[in-house]
Amino acid sequence: MARCPLCGSPLDWGELIEEMLAKRGNEMKEILSDRGRFLNELREFAFKCPNCGEEFYGKNLPEKEAEKVFELLNEFKGSIDWESGRVRLRLNSLLALDTMLEEWDRKMKGNR
Ligand SMILES: [Zn+2]
Repeated sequence: MARCPLCGSPLDWGELIEEMLAKRGNEMKEILSDRGRFLNELREFAFKCPNCGEEFYGKNLPEKEAEKVFELLNEFKGSIDWESGRVRLRLNSLLALDTMLEEWDRKMKGNR
């Protein structure tokens, strides 16, 4: 799970992406069409923790989750409301579900 590297409070991926949307605006459409560029932008982006108010760079976030977020945002049409700069997907719930399915899958394979 994504956590603030300074105070340790859990972060919402939807809110993180919305911070990027607020700063990058429509440029995010290009950024989100290129996996490498998205991950680079995210790593260099200065996010602000809603709990402690401190800034930290995206490179402190789990890269595996960032990759999944990229896939989820691209997989679902209308995942982003561009007019209001909001993320429509509940990214944290989807990531949690994804982790659960992976673990289940691993268990099933291990039992065979
Ligand atoms: Zn914090």
